[in-house]
Formats: sequence, C-alpha cells, structure tokens
Amino acid sequence: MRLGIDAVIVGGGPNGLAAAIALARAGRSVRLYEARETVGGGCRTAELTEPGVLHDVCSAIHPLARSSPFFSQLPLADHGLEWIEPPIQIAHPLDDGTAAIVRRDVDATAGSFGDERDAALYRRWMRPLGGDWDLIARELLGPLRPTAGLRHPVRLARFGLPALLPASMLARRFRSPAARALVAGVSAHSFLPLSAPMSAGFGLALLVSAHAVGWPMPRGGSGRIIEALAAHFRALGGEIETARPVRSLGELPPHRAALLDLTPRQVLALGGPRLGRAYRAQLARYRYGPAAFKLDLVLDGPIPWANPALGEAGTVHLGGRLEEIEASESATHAGRVADRPFVLLAQPTQFDPSRAPTGRHVVWAYCHVPNGWTGDATGAIERQIERFAPGFRSLIRARHVLRPRDLERYNENYVGGDINGGLQSWSQFFTRPAVRRDPYSTPDPSLFVCSSSTPPGGGVHGLCGMHAARSVLRGVLR
Ligand SMILES: Cc1cc2nc3c(=O)[nH]c(=O)nc-3n(C[C@H](O)[C@H](O)[C@H](O)COP(=O)(O)OP(=O)(O)OC[C@H]3O[C@@H](n4cnc5c(N)ncnc54)[C@H](O)[C@@H]3O)c2cc1C
Repeated sequence: MRLGIDAVIVGGGPNGLAAAIALARAGRSVRLYEARETVGGGCRTAELTEPGVLHDVCSAIHPLARSSPFFSQLPLADHGLEWIEPPIQIAHPLDDGTAAIVRRDVDATAGSFGDERDAALYRRWMRPLGGDWDLIARELLGPLRPTAGLRHPVRLARFGLPALLPASMLARRFRSPAARALVAGVSAHSFLPLSAPMSAGFGLALLVSAHAVGWPMPRGGSGRIIEALAAHFRALGGEIETARPVRSLGELPPHRAALLDLTPRQVLALGGPRLGRAYRAQLARYRYGPAAFKLDLVLDGPIPWANPALGEAGTVHLGGRLEEIEASESATHAGRVADRPFVLLAQPTQFDPSRAPTGRHVVWAYCHVPNGWTGDATGAIERQIERFAPGFRSLIRARHVLRPRDLERYNENYVGGDINGGLQSWSQFFTRPAVRRDPYSTPDPSLFVCSSSTPPGGGVHGLCGMHAARSVLRGVLR
C-alpha cells in the first residue's frame, strides 16, 4: 500500500526548507511543519524595536548562502532574493586606528596589513585558495568523503592541512598585529578556543569565501532568503503548515520518511525507542557549545568609526589584537565572559536604506558567552563598539537583547543559546550527530536528521538538508 505523503519535515529552518525542496524537486510529495507563525528558523527579519526598522533576529551575513552548491541551483532571484555586497567584506580595527581590511581583491587586502612580508605571505596563501572555493564548498562542506582527497589531492590538501591547525598557530605565521588579529577574528566564528585543533579551518574557509564570493546580505534582510526558499518550495507543490509544533511523530499524517530539522536533544524526545539503545546513547552524549548573546540597536546616525574606512564594511570584528581574542574565547570555554569580549557586528543600513526610516541605522551584534549564561553582556558589547567609535553610545535610540535563554525560547534548536546545533569541535565535525557511515540516517529507516547538527554544521547554506534529502532518496524513497 502506498502511504499518503512521501516525506514530512519537522522544522522550517534553512535546512528543513532545503531538504523539503530537494525532495520536491525529485518529484516527491512533501509537507513541512514549523512550530512558529512563520518559517525561517535562524534566518528571519523582524521589527524588533521600532516600526519600520528591520532587524535580522539571527543570521545577517551570508557567504555560505550565496555560494551554497545547493542554493545556487535554485531560482531564488526569481522569488525576489537580491544580494548586496559591501565594498569591504570584513574590517578588523586596532586601537592605534589602523585596521585589517578584507576586500574581494587579495592584493588590496594584503596591503592593509602594513607589513610587506605578511602581505606577500597572504597573497601566496590566498590567491590559489580563492580559485578553489567551489571545490572546497562542494567536497568539504558535507559528510566526510575520503574519495574527494583522491580526486583532488593537491588542491584539497592546500586548504585541508592548514585547516586542521589551531587558529592561534596559523595566526602566528604572520607578524603584523593586523594580519594576526584578522585570522583570530574569522576563526573565532567557530565558537572554539583558538588553541583547539581545526579552529583555523573555520577562519580559513570564511576568509577564502570573502575573496571568492564576498560576505553579502540580502536586500530587505535575511528573511528574504527564507521567503524565496518557501516560495520555490510551494511552486514545486510543497505544503507548509506553520504554528504547528510537533511533539510526537504519532501526530503526523501517514508518511514514508520523516526528516527532523532538530538537534539531538529534540530528536531523542521525538524518536523515542525507535532510535535504538546505542544510537540514543550517542545522542545523549552529544555536546552543545557556547552561546551567543545578541544585541540589536537602532541609532540616530551611522556608527562614528574612528577609522572612517569601516563605514564601508558589512561586517566588523571588534576584539583588538590576537592575544585579546584568544583570551576572550578561552574565557567563554572556562565558563566566564571576558571584560572585553570578541564582538561580531554588522551594519546593514550603510548599504540598504530599505531597512530603516531615513536617518536611522541598524546595528546587529553578538558576542560569545558560556552555554546557558544568565548574565548581561549589553554593556560589554557597547563598550567594545565605543572603543573603536567614540561617541557611538550617544546615538543609541532603541535596544533589543536576546540572552541565551531567550534564544532557546525563540527556537528550541538553540539549546542553552548554542546557535550552531552543537559544538563544532574536530570530534563532532564530520560525525555529528552520531558516528554513522551516513550521519543523516538513524537506526529507524524512515527517520532522518537534517539540521545543522549534521555535517557540515552551522550556518545558512542548506547543505545539511540537501545531504539528508539525498540520503532519503537513496534509502526509503528510492
Ligand atoms: C544570533 C545568531 C547569529 C547568526 N549569524 C549567522 C550568520 O550571520 N550567517 C549564517 O550563515 N548563520 C548565522 N547563524 C546560524 C544560523 O542561523 C543557523 O546555523 C541556521 O539557521 C541553522 O539552520 P537549521 O535549518 O539547521 O535550523 P534552524 O534555523 O534552527 O531551524 C529550525 C526550525 O525548526 C523549528 N522547530 C523546532 N522545534 C520544532 C518542533 N518540535 N516542531 C516544529 N518546528 C520546530 C524552529 O522553530 C525553527 O524554525 C546565526 C544564528 C544566530 C542565533
């Protein structure tokens, strides 16, 4: 007997939608259930503070969405998605007024270090890697595939070998404070201590992406990515039910496959005994990482950066020198928040006037704090901005704060405020959520995991969803 729906998806984040689209494109009937009033997960835009001021609640900057081997196949532009690329992808200011400035052009970036030897090293390192980005995204952003290394040994080793290093070690190959700080800042996106193996890999991938595809933002806010994905899914015949939290698989209509855009804690609760003892034990051991402390601001003018070049940057990393960022990330892992935490900041209204009424400016910022932390980092984040932009605080007209527990209330996937669906350490990178040949499958042949708790992990790229859908199409929906 053929059951009613081929596949149900629980959770409408970027990965749930990607899985849904991949299955619908393969001709399968798909229905997606989302707990909140709208789909989107960590990729929504909302009026958090004042009417007409559009804040990105979670993700803001999208090198991975723009270059995702899955999203790039989809007609998202036909559904209104338009990318804005700032002239400067990333800026990292220092206290002396200088800054590492990452432009698409490798030479221009290297020139900002103020050190000829470092500039030459950066050029030698980045030029070939920039050309390898498509290969890196295709072969390394997903489950571990040993055959990839056999097909492209030199090009993948060029990226893969330094990627295995701790970021502290990679940064110290440079001698200028600007180049070192830049490597530390991009690597801190991993949420790992910079002394951890593979922390350099995150930084390296993000730097290469800045040169290869840029660090863009969608016009109108991140939610536009989701609107375009949802519109494409519906155009393929897919169905979406919102305001529909799924608390038991038994409440879903008859289906052949269920894909969970959820992290191990919720997979355990929903899957129950069907998952088998050994797999359940692995999920129970799964480790969540540090949390984000998110701050959204509305200003009465642009941020008055001491270094005016920073006004052209979409993303600004605030943390000063390498040593300070190392201390900030180590403190988070030791259960503390540094007095001067590393802050990631985006300033969308510099490039997109549709985000706020004339004269007002939006600031998106967060720092890393221990998982479940209940303190208040608002002042610390604002001091870090003021440090590099004297007078900034006097421009603040509204604030919105999301502490780790608020993030978890907003989206159950953010366990303790962890925004990456689990710690992205070397031991959980390729094997998340459990050690299995196919990490998207479970011992129940009809049940799959498609969230960022599977390879390649956090970020808006849809690749977890795409790989999970392929696993379903190889298995129960063959
Ligand atoms: C503050 C912050 C900043 C970030 N910045 C960036 C950035 O700049 N760039 C970037 O690429 N990424 C960024 N991220 C990370 C990114 O948002 C996530 O990695 C991404 O959204 C993960 O997608 P997902 O589909 O796996 O899960 P999610 O986006 O978490 O989606 C899961 C969905 O499932 C729903 N759900 C949960 N439980 C149930 C249930 N029982 N029944 C039905 N529905 C359910 C949730 O409501 C949610 O909509 C950021 C995240 C945060 C919080």
